[in-house]
Amino acid sequence: MDHIDYDIDLTSEELELKAAAHKFAEDVLRPAGIQIDRMTPEEATASDSLLFDVLKQATELGFNRMGAPEEMGGTAISARAATLVNEELAWGSMGLAGAIGLSSTHANIAMALGNEEIIEEFARPFFEDNSGSIIGCWAVTEPDYGSDTLGVMQPEMVVETKGQLIARKDGDEYILNGQKSAWVSNGPIATHAMLNVHLDPGTKLDHGGICLMPLNLPGVSRGKPLDKHGVRAMTQGEIFFDDVRIPKRYMLLDQTAFAPYMNIHLAMFNAGVGTLVTGLARAAYDAAYDYAKNRVQGGKPIIEHQSVRARLFRMFTLLQTCR
Ligand SMILES: Cc1cc2nc3c(=O)[nH]c(=O)nc-3n(C[C@H](O)[C@H](O)[C@H](O)COP(=O)(O)OP(=O)(O)OC[C@H]3O[C@@H](n4cnc5c(N)ncnc54)[C@H](O)[C@@H]3O)c2cc1C
Repeated sequence: MDHIDYDIDLTSEELELKAAAHKFAEDVLRPAGIQIDRMTPEEATASDSLLFDVLKQATELGFNRMGAPEEMGGTAISARAATLVNEELAWGSMGLAGAIGLSSTHANIAMALGNEEIIEEFARPFFEDNSGSIIGCWAVTEPDYGSDTLGVMQPEMVVETKGQLIARKDGDEYILNGQKSAWVSNGPIATHAMLNVHLDPGTKLDHGGICLMPLNLPGVSRGKPLDKHGVRAMTQGEIFFDDVRIPKRYMLLDQTAFAPYMNIHLAMFNAGVGTLVTGLARAAYDAAYDYAKNRVQGGKPIIEHQSVRARLFRMFTLLQTCR
């Protein structure tokens, strides 16, 4: 335990998990994250990319299936333990922690909303997989509807539009047409998606549905992976749907439960993102703290200058508040 880890009520199991996650973050995620950060998006998403090796290692260690039932290969750890692990992973690399965390999206949603058949089709194969080759994503944002797609539970934010990814019922199937924006994390590499759609003939954004689907169905295609300034190890890119047919059982919920469920999902999702950015902030704090101890100016390490100490302490208090 160092000065930043003053939680005194962690169990020995939680401390062990945290230490294992920290080791993986330090030995694997930090160096891989730096390497992938310097790649082009095409190199990062190529089939021989280091990214897939990292996802495989994370899968072998169970970091992508925390909370899943043990009989399905999950580690069934508590939400608090999972939060501790995620903070450590993001301390190593926020981008890779995001890619690892999001890879289970479709399996977790199958567990939360699916019947036995959906669980067997989407959750079990993911949780039992040790190869890291099954990768999920949450495709929600559309080019013209960012905040609007997420704000559907607030009546004042429900925009009048059909949206940009329409699902039309056709007998026992839905036919999907349209696209998701370049912000879909894991979009270029995902094999499966949790997908937000607009149900035809809706005219407002709260007339939505949530479905699961494999992304190798006819009519699915991807855009160029996004070139961006930061979090480059979490690759992002558009997904296009051209007359894609999915069985109606893949539509896990329709407009009756859409807005309330989005509320729940966003609460969980945002808590997860909060954990990741806390890990990132801790990495920034650690770097600043080490630098301040080693950089000598005015005849002493700068950490001994009052103004530097005050700024570091401000970082420390903000960080602990996040935790
Ligand atoms: C790192 C990262 C990861 C992401 N991962 C995913 C992912 O996995 N899947 C996915 O589908 N999407 C993802 N996104 C996209 C994300 O969901 C959108 O960026 C988000 O919904 C905001 O949409 P926007 O970027 O289009 O901003 P806009 O909606 O265009 O908003 C622009 C600005 O206007 C403000 N604004 C918007 N509406 C209002 C309002 N009614 N009142 C006041 N202010 C308003 C916003 O706060 C913001 O400051 C990701 C984005 C980032 C940055």
